[in-house]
Amino acid sequence: MRYDVIIIGAGPAGISASLYTQRGNLKTLVLYKDKSSLEKTDKIENYYGFENGISGEQLYKNGINQAQNIGVDVQKEEVIKIDIISEGFLVKSSKEEYISKVVILATGNKKNKPKIKGIEKFEGKGVSYCAICDGFFYRNKSVAVIRKRRVCNF
Ligand SMILES: Cc1cc2nc3c(=O)[nH]c(=O)nc-3n(C[C@H](O)[C@H](O)[C@H](O)COP(=O)(O)OP(=O)(O)OC[C@H]3O[C@@H](n4cnc5c(N)ncnc54)[C@H](O)[C@@H]3O)c2cc1C
Repeated sequence: MRYDVIIIGAGPAGISASLYTQRGNLKTLVLYKDKSSLEKTDKIENYYGFENGISGEQLYKNGINQAQNIGVDVQKEEVIKIDIISEGFLVKSSKEEYISKVVILATGNKKNKPKIKGIEKFEGKGVSYCAICDGFFYRNKSVAVIRKRRVCNF
């Protein structure tokens, strides 16, 4: 299948990009694999327009629905390979192969997590990686801050 744009990632970055490309008359495909960082977020209060906040899972679903409603093709398929070809890019997923003139990578980033067994279970439920996002939830509570020392070699 051929597209003008393939976007890898259905989080806020990928879906936002797809809204612009699709509305700009570019046939757009969004591919995603599993959870985005957003889905792990229990409650988001620092985003405009949600008077009682919104769960990350709901915001993620809303984004995908919003893109689909304007005609973006959104598929849950992991991208395993991208090759450069004369027409642009050959994108291989776990299920299909696609050709596109443009590929946008919106695959999020990995947290530099401390090696603590089972820590994932508590992400969004007391363990936080974003002081600006979640500091407010812990106001007047006892918190522990883990700070990793950076070593720079110049
Ligand atoms: C616990 C927690 C709490 C947070 N709380 C807040 C908050 O309160 N407020 C706030 O503003 N932000 C919060 N954040 C941060 C916010 O979730 C991220 O900034 C945001 O989700 C980043 O968006 P993104 O689109 O760049 O990446 P992501 O949302 O991580 O999306 C990445 C996408 O790429 C896809 N992907 C990756 N590799 C592949 C592949 N090979 N093939 C196909 N798809 C692939 C994934 O499936 C996913 O759809 C929180 C994050 C966490 C983890």
